[in-house]
Amino acid sequence: MLGNLRKGYSVDTIGFIGLGLMGKPMTRNLLKAGYRLVVHNRSRAAVDELVAAGAAAATSPREVASRSEIVITMLPDSPDVEAVLRGPDGVLAGVRPGMLLIDMSTISPVVTRRLAAEARERGCEMLDAPVSGGTVGARDGTLSIMVGGSAAALERTRPILAALGKTITHVGGPGAGQVAKACNQVIVALTIEAVGEALVLAEKAGVDPARVREALLGGFAQSRILDVHGRRALERNFEPGFKVRLQLKDLAIALAAAKEYGARMPATSIVAEILKNVVACGDAEADHSVIMAHVARWAGLQWKPE
Ligand code: NAD
Repeated sequence: MLGNLRKGYSVDTIGFIGLGLMGKPMTRNLLKAGYRLVVHNRSRAAVDELVAAGAAAATSPREVASRSEIVITMLPDSPDVEAVLRGPDGVLAGVRPGMLLIDMSTISPVVTRRLAAEARERGCEMLDAPVSGGTVGARDGTLSIMVGGSAAALERTRPILAALGKTITHVGGPGAGQVAKACNQVIVALTIEAVGEALVLAEKAGVDPARVREALLGGFAQSRILDVHGRRALERNFEPGFKVRLQLKDLAIALAAAKEYGARMPATSIVAEILKNVVACGDAEADHSVIMAHVARWAGLQWKPE
């Protein structure tokens, strides 16, 4: 039977819920790897596309669970994952003991730990496996996957995750993958703000920001964000990419986790406020690098047309 794992979970069928920008290309990679899929999504168009590509459709998360051995979710935020798992027609209403749930959405580690405990009460293991690498990584199967949960469950599902990502890191127990993803998003957002402030300073001081970026890329301040988003600033390209509203959601997750676990993150709070301002200015759907254009605007520079 195609898709069966020799040493792992016996996988006849994988359920997949959430066929958005990320979920759709990920399901295509699973089909390409030979797995049988049952899919569900809130809007029907994406389901029809996947059915045309060879997947089967289910009308509820509960039905997805009842027709598969492993259920993967790729949904926007914590309340969405809670609704899909816990609802009356949710995944947990349809699971059988021994099944595995893998949540690949970026959500709160606090919520994740609660959901993992509820899954355990029903005899199921749950892995949190958020990703980095964006829609390109989802399409090419090169995502970086940060995994929380039991090492044994991860080892048994590694062939499935290998169809989706290139780097698979077991970070720790339940919620650890989401904590790693929150750390990732803090570094990304604060670095974009820093690069924006630095390049604006250069321009206001009459120095070519392109030459500043070039000089800094050879030193201790070099980073992928200075490289990639620094270039975006110079080219005035703020097309998404990764949207401002998702970046703000991810900082809110980090700040809520900080409150829960007793970390203090003043710079993260400030950048979250700046992102709220960017959203209020109508740029929720722009690339998160657009923060730099707003920093420029405060200095009287126009990096983005009104
Ligand atoms: P998206 O909004 O494009 O897709 C989400 C999908 O979930 C949609 O198709 C929606 O219809 C479906 N959905 C929402 N609620 C549902 C419900 N109750 N039942 C069934 N389906 C439901 O989002 P995305 O960009 O695919 O992101 C998914 C997750 O991956 C998010 O947590 C995001 O932060 C994370 N992520 C995104 C990127 C990126 O570049 N887009 C990169 C890394 C991580």
